[in-house]
Amino acid sequence: MMSRVKITLKSGKEQSIKRYHPWIFSGAIKHIDGKPAEGDIVDVYSNKNEFLATGHYQIGSIAIRIVSFTQTAADYEFWKFKIQSAFLLRKELKLTNNPETNAYRLVHGEGDNMPGLIIDFYNGTAVMQMHSIGMYLLRHTFVDILREIYGKDLHAVFDKSESTLPFKAGINAKNEYLYGAKSSTEILEYGNRFLVDWENGQKTGFFLDQRENRKLLSKYSKNRDILNMFCFTGGFSVYGLHGEANLVHSVDSSEKAMDQTEKNIALNFKDLSRHKSITANAFQFLNSIHNQYDLIILDPPAFAKHHNVLNQALMGYKNLNAKAFEHIRPGGIVFTFSCSQVVSKEDFKKSIFVAAANSGRDIKIIHQLTQPADHPVNIYHPEGEYLKGLVLYVH
Ligand code: SAH
Repeated sequence: MMSRVKITLKSGKEQSIKRYHPWIFSGAIKHIDGKPAEGDIVDVYSNKNEFLATGHYQIGSIAIRIVSFTQTAADYEFWKFKIQSAFLLRKELKLTNNPETNAYRLVHGEGDNMPGLIIDFYNGTAVMQMHSIGMYLLRHTFVDILREIYGKDLHAVFDKSESTLPFKAGINAKNEYLYGAKSSTEILEYGNRFLVDWENGQKTGFFLDQRENRKLLSKYSKNRDILNMFCFTGGFSVYGLHGEANLVHSVDSSEKAMDQTEKNIALNFKDLSRHKSITANAFQFLNSIHNQYDLIILDPPAFAKHHNVLNQALMGYKNLNAKAFEHIRPGGIVFTFSCSQVVSKEDFKKSIFVAAANSGRDIKIIHQLTQPADHPVNIYHPEGEYLKGLVLYVH
């Protein structure tokens, strides 16, 4: 095995590693034996000189992202085994060869024991998004592995790490095709058709994590007047219309998102009369509505990206949901979400509780939602459970 930089932790700091938590914070480090470059593979030892783990080194608050708790060469076969394991789980989930659904998350960072790596598969195109330098340096290895696993089912690999890598590293990553070229951008999800703009859209172009929640929505849509707030590319809107909604109003502040929504509606329906697109700010729009909806979806962007803005974020969720409770018709249904990793399930529920109590309405929780199985939560990394949702019945 090649010689590697050895990092020794302070006494007691090995505890979380022994519980398989995949991060080591810079404050836990006692000594670095050598000068690792960002992205290097390093070996981690306890203060008593026991081997603990191997991981990617990075300058920052999370100093090491662990890739193995046993000694490893971290070579091509090592990474291939990991990606193959992730693929086998998706196969188990009936996502890899499904005539109704051809888009799914193949690698979900810590959830698949690959901290710093996201790979979404869109009908033949794999979109990779790296959050650590260590993973970014392996990008061509991942292309080779994906080609080996998928064979002719893989048409292209697009690297979209330009805005997700730590800027201090000075890597100057470009979004680019590492294999193949742009091909079909149309995907199927439970038979619903969507165009995905992975080159320019937010994240990897589509929010695959709402798949099961969108499916649930279609069951409640019949004859309802739906407001899809923060619609992005119209995911919930398409499911609502397929679920025989009376009408769907899609609202987002981004014009680009609204253009995509219109395209997606047109891709699925000849008659567009049940749908209306509105480019607007959520808070302003919600102030202007009266009792005109009996189903409201609230799927805002992450209000808190860090712990220090947690209270402000909880206030945001409270105010947003208060508007829905104020205006929804009796017998109405609210699908409300938070995708902030730092907002816990309990905190989110509490802010909805406060909004409910202030409205004085009779409100029942009828479903508690989370992310789908292709966004697995590593049991040793509970922070990975980021998507929280409640379906509320409001009288
Ligand atoms: N529900 C979507 C994902 C929502 S992502 C889906 O299933 O695909 C969050 C969206 O909120 C983004 O499209 C973003 O443009 C929009 N957004 C952010 N701030 C907003 C605001 N103040 N008012 C309206 N939309 C906003």
